[in-house]
Amino acid sequence: LISIIDINLIASLILCANTFCMLKPDAVRDRKMGRIIDRIEASGLVIERMEMCELTRSLAEEHYAHLAAAPFFGRIVDFMTGGPVVKMVLSGPNAVAKLRALMGATDPLKAAPGTIRADFALETSSNVIHGSDSVENAEIEIKRFFG
Ligand code: UDP
Ligand code: MG
Repeated sequence: LISIIDINLIASLILCANTFCMLKPDAVRDRKMGRIIDRIEASGLVIERMEMCELTRSLAEEHYAHLAAAPFFGRIVDFMTGGPVVKMVLSGPNAVAKLRALMGATDPLKAAPGTIRADFALETSSNVIHGSDSVENAEIEIKRFFG
């Protein structure tokens, strides 16, 4: 009985976990913020925290460390530090998976119609939005960007 309670508690904590979202510099520069935020709110996800800021090089390098070996790593860091971003903490049931579904695939050409990347972006290198890819990474990223 105790283990069933524990499993339910753990499951509900995972389902309620917050996610980290960032509108990338292209979204801000090209005045797409309002329309993207509208989609996030319309989905039912709740914006718990939101702030416009500029990323330092070291923060962008840390955030994209999983791509450090890629030939385009320098371009990602240049892009992400090239203008203001909007960082957010979102909550809601299955917030991590829900945001990823709203975003669509990394490559806007492969993203399903109706997703944010399909509708607001043309290229992988400037795909308007970031969302955490797991509950574990969401926790790390919220700490990274909001302390
Ligand atoms: N990226 C890129 N070229 C690639 C793969 C990734 O420019 O071939 C960039 C792209 O902006 C992407 C980010 O690196 O959003 C992080 O890549 P990841 O695989 O984590 O994709 P995401 O989680 O953003 O969908
Ligand atoms: Mg990612």
